[in-house]
Amino acid sequence: MPDVEFGVIFEKFLKPDTMSAFHNYPSKLLEQAVREFASLPGIGNKTALRLVLHLLKQDEEDVENFGNAMIELKKNIHHCKICQNISDTERCQICSNPNRAREQVCVVENIRDVMAIEGTNQYTGLYHVLGGIISPIDGVGPGDLTIDQLEQRIKQGGTDEVILALSTTMEGDTTNFYIYKRLQSYPIRITTLARGVSIGDELEYADEITLGRSILDRTPFEVSFSGRKQDPS
Ligand SMILES: [Zn+2]
Repeated sequence: MPDVEFGVIFEKFLKPDTMSAFHNYPSKLLEQAVREFASLPGIGNKTALRLVLHLLKQDEEDVENFGNAMIELKKNIHHCKICQNISDTERCQICSNPNRAREQVCVVENIRDVMAIEGTNQYTGLYHVLGGIISPIDGVGPGDLTIDQLEQRIKQGGTDEVILALSTTMEGDTTNFYIYKRLQSYPIRITTLARGVSIGDELEYADEITLGRSILDRTPFEVSFSGRKQDPS
């Protein structure tokens, strides 16, 4: 096949989402808005255009409310002083609830995992939100997470048990192990979720029954990694 022909086919193949993505917009403002939406995770150019056209049809006041909500969110949101969860106040609702078991701290990756565990109605302790997991490929090291704050919290006392509730991926396991090494000298119990949550599953996608059972049936962390030799720190 001649090169020219191959080039045409190749261009056609690329066209839908890459090469011609922004060629046909009749307005720079429209194009700019589409670009912003398309920069969000999981949103392609077509979906971005659909969302922007939808906004265009709304009343000016509704669009203003939409824009202001995003700006307010970024400007005014706090991270809870205790658990690092996203909050409107210095202490989040969970940390300021006197009915929660303060001696239990469940370590999770992000707010979506807090919401997933809260959804099981099986856990009454507090949380610690890491803000991610250790992932050398993505350039995320222990210093990028709130592990220092977690250790500080344990050092201050009042915690009997740290429950490691990270995703059962290799990155989750590495992070569990790193935290375990950091905290093992403190007089606390370190547990991890029972592996009712499948290996390789993202925690937030686990169904409520599996996740609920996993948090009730947690096991000592030492048992969960027997046979593991390497130390990621
Ligand atoms: Zn909190």
